[in-house]
Amino acid sequence: MFCKNCGKQIPDGAHVCPYCGVSQEISAPVKKKDDTNVLAIVGFILSFFVAIAGLVCSVIGLKKAPELGGNGHGLALAGLIISIVSIAFSFIAVIIYIALLGSFLAAL
Ligand SMILES: [Zn+2]
Repeated sequence: MFCKNCGKQIPDGAHVCPYCGVSQEISAPVKKKDDTNVLAIVGFILSFFVAIAGLVCSVIGLKKAPELGGNGHGLALAGLIISIVSIAFSFIAVIIYIALLGSFLAAL
């Protein structure tokens, strides 16, 4: 390898250049900006079929979005909203069903 500062050849894996003394530590790897936010996509799709699973995946996808340069943020948010609406509708449907069943049984 070569020194980052003076360009002289130095031993591979050397932490400090023996010629100029400049640190050769590699800076933290740059986060990928083009990574696909898989959880956001999965959460979005699941929100239509399995609302609770979609909700969980969307929440995780939403938290991961900033790490991926905002990738999948909109999709995760959409999945989150669809999941919540879906759960709310299921909840209302169950209440209506129980109410109808109750009035039906009371009429017998
Ligand atoms: Zn050097």
